[in-house]
Amino acid sequence: MAGASLVAFNSWLDGFIARQGQAEVASAARRAVGLAEFRLQEAAAALDALALQGVNSCAAGNIPALRAATFAAAPIKAVTVLDSDRQSLCADLDAPFAGADLLTTVPAGADGVSLDIMLLSNGERMARLRRIAGEGPAEIAALIPVSLLLPQVSIPGSSVSAYAQLTTRDGILIGAVGLRPPGAEARFAATAASDTFAFNAEIVVPYGILPSENAGLKRLGLILPGIVVAMLIICALVMRRRDAENPVAELQRALAAGELIPYYQPIVDIRSGKLRGAEVLVRWRKPDGTLVLPGAFIPLAESSGMIRAMTHDLMKRVCVEAGRAIGARPGLKISFNFAGQLFGDQSIVKDVRNIFSGTPIKLSQVVLEVTERDPIENFTATRQTIAALQGLGVRIAIDDVGTGHSGLSYMLKLGVDIIKIDKIFVDAIGTDRNSNTIVETLVDLAHNMRMDVVAEGVETFEQVMYLRDLGVRSAQGYVFAPPLPGSAFLQLVDAIDPLTAARVPEAGRASAA
Ligand code: C2E
Ligand code: CA
Ligand code: CA
Repeated sequence: MAGASLVAFNSWLDGFIARQGQAEVASAARRAVGLAEFRLQEAAAALDALALQGVNSCAAGNIPALRAATFAAAPIKAVTVLDSDRQSLCADLDAPFAGADLLTTVPAGADGVSLDIMLLSNGERMARLRRIAGEGPAEIAALIPVSLLLPQVSIPGSSVSAYAQLTTRDGILIGAVGLRPPGAEARFAATAASDTFAFNAEIVVPYGILPSENAGLKRLGLILPGIVVAMLIICALVMRRRDAENPVAELQRALAAGELIPYYQPIVDIRSGKLRGAEVLVRWRKPDGTLVLPGAFIPLAESSGMIRAMTHDLMKRVCVEAGRAIGARPGLKISFNFAGQLFGDQSIVKDVRNIFSGTPIKLSQVVLEVTERDPIENFTATRQTIAALQGLGVRIAIDDVGTGHSGLSYMLKLGVDIIKIDKIFVDAIGTDRNSNTIVETLVDLAHNMRMDVVAEGVETFEQVMYLRDLGVRSAQGYVFAPPLPGSAFLQLVDAIDPLTAARVPEAGRASAA
């Protein structure tokens, strides 16, 4: 089984990790600085606004303004007024300030805002931003838990974990998250500096080589650390927001402004190590750089009817961004998530044909994923739409198999081509015998019905081996790569499957829509 392409995949991984890993960790460090700066700036702006309102004491009339500032700026836990000894004057607001030791102070820069690092009696670290209130000498201060300045460095339920720390310029720890890999262990590390608040962010990522007796496939278990970390940090940038008064209007604005963009998660052939394609997963990239995951806005897009325009826009963006790379490699497939409601209307067939016609992507390269989670409203119409799409050469997959209410046999009557085994069943591999039986049953069924199987959310090498032994051909998951931004995905495609001279002109002639 360990054929030449697997060797090529392994050597690609080596090179890719060395080049991309360091670059991605450096970019993760810059993002960590960006995240902490963004939150501190949000707090500083709240303090500026209070100073402008003339809040300089704990007079009863000022308390509502202090409370409003705490509420309006997401990272702030409390706002108070300090006397000349920097003691809080507003007794009912200062509980978190009581009994805190001052560890260090980063003096004010041009903006007049100083940053104190405090240690609370419960061991928690807090950042305290301070500025003069109006004429002084009183100061107003905002308290921010240090944990809110740090990126997320691990994925819940996964063994993947990185380490991040923020330090002042003179090396005093502001806060840290994750476990620092021991010095001897091979790893990537990068540091970036904030000029605005004079701190440094350091990110460290271990290589995680899982033990295996199969030398050929061993490196499949080597997680692409830099990319995973970049993704983790991106997750961390998914922020709790209290704005967006009209969320539908806000989403519509985002769509019109081109803020809803495709990410690409590679789908790998686990028998050969070759790339089979990618699944497109939408991300909302806000102007300040924060990334919002689809779980936060797809339900709204579906209930407001915007999902159709959003899905069209996403397909067009993929044609422009990745059309050439995909079209030049006819073996690659590109999958889109299609909300069930889109299949209820036959006009989607014409839309799909129009979107891809004249682009390098052939309809035979397109896969549409319909989720089993939502009940199918009009079974007959859905089945007709699916048949018409298959008539164009498009393939249909059922997503999240095993998690829905419709029942698999009902879903299979739709006549689909591929089933995607949900992460909850993949997670249980090696832990729960019953669940393994579910995976086996699904795979048997799919093979009997001549359908392809894709396993989702594959995170460990052990899962790869188990699935491969069952005869599963394709898998996606963090063990290979997380969803990647377009540029990283295109680099990966070029590295894994370079275009031969014979195919380049074809790619060059083809133009994106
Ligand atoms: P899905 O279609 O089941 O996509 C797989 C989800 O699992 C993605 O989450 C992906 O990032 C995540 N994932 C992949 N590998 C792993 C892994 O190894 N471990 C873990 N823990 N997670 C993994 P994401 O991107 O947050 O998307 C969530 C859901 O949002 C998708 O679930 C899909 O149902 C929906 N969605 C995403 N993009 C679109 C879209 O363009 N249209 C529609 N209608 N739905 C979309
Ligand atoms: Ca999907
Ligand atoms: Ca799924």
